[in-house]
Order: sequence, then structure tokens, then C-alpha cells
Amino acid sequence: MKQPFIGRVPLVSGEIAEDLSQYFYMSEQVLSLVSLGVLVDTDLTILAAGGLLIQAMPGAREDLLAKLENNVLNMGAISEVIKNHKRIEDIAPQVMKGVEYYITGEQNLQFKCNCSRERLAAILAQLSDEELDEIYAAEGKLEVCCNFCNEFYEYTPDDIKIMKK
Ligand SMILES: [Zn+2]
Repeated sequence: MKQPFIGRVPLVSGEIAEDLSQYFYMSEQVLSLVSLGVLVDTDLTILAAGGLLIQAMPGAREDLLAKLENNVLNMGAISEVIKNHKRIEDIAPQVMKGVEYYITGEQNLQFKCNCSRERLAAILAQLSDEELDEIYAAEGKLEVCCNFCNEFYEYTPDDIKIMKK
């Protein structure tokens, strides 16, 4: 827990959708189709922005994957599709054309991190008493930054006493 775990996948094209697709394949070994787009109006306001992320389940048939890829290509610019269709029920029939499917659920996306002061304190408590003291002595404080959301948590000497138990 002393060294942060960092995984890196090189960018392949600079196109965000292509690079995300490559990332999912290299890092998670999941075949993914990523289509992203932003539709900008003549006055430079954003008319629509969004995308599709389709990931193959293990053992997915190649011909079905090819059909989905072809369907997405035939849909045209994804930003235009999103502008005209706001719900998954409207877009799924175009993506899944010729493939049997059913919708298992729908959920709005949001940025959310599961970190908390207590959770990070529990991780710090795994360090030895000496290590906690060394960090506090060297830094003059015990502060942790969540690698996922960049939230900072600072712990007092009283907090550190509790971690040592
Ligand atoms: Zn976080």
C-alpha cells in the first residue's frame, strides 16, 4: 500500500473513442466499441454530446460483434443520433438491429467516488505505528489524496492515535 498502483496504456491515435477502445482491450482484455461525438451549433453552443460504449461478454460470437459494429457505422454521427433520441429505448433498436436483445436496466451516469475519510483512515491504519509517526514527522501532517477523485483528507494526531490501535 506504500506505492500507488499505476496502469498505463499508450495512446494510439489521439481520437478519444479509439484510445478508449484500445484501453479497454489492453488493460481489461474486453473487446469494446466506443463511439463519441459532440454536435456544435453555428453559435458554438453544444446541441448534443455523448456516446456509446458497447462491450463484448466473454464468448461473444464474432459475427454478432461485426453486425453491431456495422449497425453503429450505419447510424451516422453519434452526436446527431443523441440529439434526436434521448432514451436508450430509442437508440438500442438501431444499435441492435438484427440481434435479439432485451434491456436489463437503465441508469443515469454520474461521477462518484467511493472514498471517504473513514475508508482512507482504515487503509492508513495498515501502516505500522513507526511509519505513521515517520510520515507525520516528515510532513508535519498526515494528509492523503484519493487517486481517483483528488479529494484530500487530513488526519490529526488524535486520528493517528486511533489508527495505531
Ligand atoms: Zn475519491
